[in-house]
Amino acid sequence: METKLSLYNTLTRRKEIFEPLNEGRVGMYVCGPTVYGDPHLGHARPSITFDLMFRYLKALGYKVRYVRNITDVGHLEHDADDGEDKIAKKARLEELEPMEVAHYYTERYHKAMEQLNVLSPSIEPHASGHIMEQIDFVQRIFDAGYAYESNGSVYFDVEKYNEVYNYGKLSGRNLDDIVANTRDLDGQSDKRHSYDFALWKKAAPEHIMRWKSPWSDGFPGWHMECSAMSCKYLGEQFDIHGGGMDLMFPHHECEIALATAALGKDSARYWVHNNMITIDGQKMGKAYGNFITMEQLFNGEHPKLEQPYSPMTIRFFVLQAHYRSTLDFSNAALQAAEKGFDRLMKGMETLGKLKASATSSVEIADLEKRCSEAMNDDLNSPMVISALFDYVRIINQIAEGQQTISEADLAELKRVFDLYVYEILGLRNEKQEGVAGGSDMLGKVVDMILAVRQDAKANKDWATSDKIRNELTAIGIRVKDRKDGVDWEIE
Ligand code: ZN
Repeated sequence: METKLSLYNTLTRRKEIFEPLNEGRVGMYVCGPTVYGDPHLGHARPSITFDLMFRYLKALGYKVRYVRNITDVGHLEHDADDGEDKIAKKARLEELEPMEVAHYYTERYHKAMEQLNVLSPSIEPHASGHIMEQIDFVQRIFDAGYAYESNGSVYFDVEKYNEVYNYGKLSGRNLDDIVANTRDLDGQSDKRHSYDFALWKKAAPEHIMRWKSPWSDGFPGWHMECSAMSCKYLGEQFDIHGGGMDLMFPHHECEIALATAALGKDSARYWVHNNMITIDGQKMGKAYGNFITMEQLFNGEHPKLEQPYSPMTIRFFVLQAHYRSTLDFSNAALQAAEKGFDRLMKGMETLGKLKASATSSVEIADLEKRCSEAMNDDLNSPMVISALFDYVRIINQIAEGQQTISEADLAELKRVFDLYVYEILGLRNEKQEGVAGGSDMLGKVVDMILAVRQDAKANKDWATSDKIRNELTAIGIRVKDRKDGVDWEIE
């Protein structure tokens, strides 16, 4: 396969030419959501970044197995008061099965992903459905000598591991830094060291999510689920492991340690991390009053939002920045993204209506070259968008009669635009979709009405011609008379 895709590998801290372990196939694992609450703005960036990667790898011709997990045991979110898991607590208070709560939020997450046009992964394993695999993985680490049991819980022995391997190689931390930054929390006193982490936790009596294990009735530690499930579906070694930068430490560092302790080698070859979204320069969080859910973004109902933003505006906003650079969310930035996205979609509509000439006065081969070079350079989507905008200008010039394009070039230009705008960037024209019947049906109807208007004009029936134009304008369809015909767009 001809490809020169390079990716920035967090593990080696440099861009590397991507070479899959098995020719023509790619295994990628991305840490998915914890389903104890509504999908929010923080989910948008990793999901869109790795969707872009998934789409591009497929466009390059790879057979991709993309695994994105669902964390439905909620180990992360212990209530500060009593150490009880949040899903379990909500379930207990509302007399729900924990899986009922997890299912509700999983559905909402899926809906948001669909609105953002994020493709479904190849496999979406649930942590709760892979308890056996996780127990097995804990046992392997235990057998290898890197775990110890304490009061029915099992902990990873970081110090022992660090004597043989390098704990902290992904995040660039060493044990001294980690000790300095770790607080000893209440109820974790059965650990030998503050930096040790749980592989299996004994459940307190009130804890309703629990499973049997050789050590106690309890539940697996969070880091364990990704190690066990990536190993099950992608093998002991696989190509790409992705996630947000906030997961690099401790989660991904721990995953590397778990796989290395159990299997004696690194699991993933390329570690890829997207940068975070800030809001007006601040971290997003409930404590800052800037926690915005996906639903609020789309309906505008949050004090921070001046207006609703459509899913494609959000997607375009995320893609306009390189995934490793910072991205600050503000109304001004979102409004600019909305305008930019609109300009791109109008360019696509105009492209669809261009008339070919005998010869081309424009050079179009450069577009695909620029787009593919940008994507191959560590998925540089902003450079792709900038190339597309340069060609939107050319498209408008052709429409205005200042340039010409041959039939072959026009077909090629449409192919490249469709490939990059729809397939790879994963954008879609929401305004046309918003009309019943979809874009094709609407387009045909408007073209038919405009053909009637052209006949009226030819018969010098100006009253009918104006009436059609005015009524189309009234429902949001702007008619533009051009030198050699008529054009229209949805406002
Ligand atoms: Zn994970």
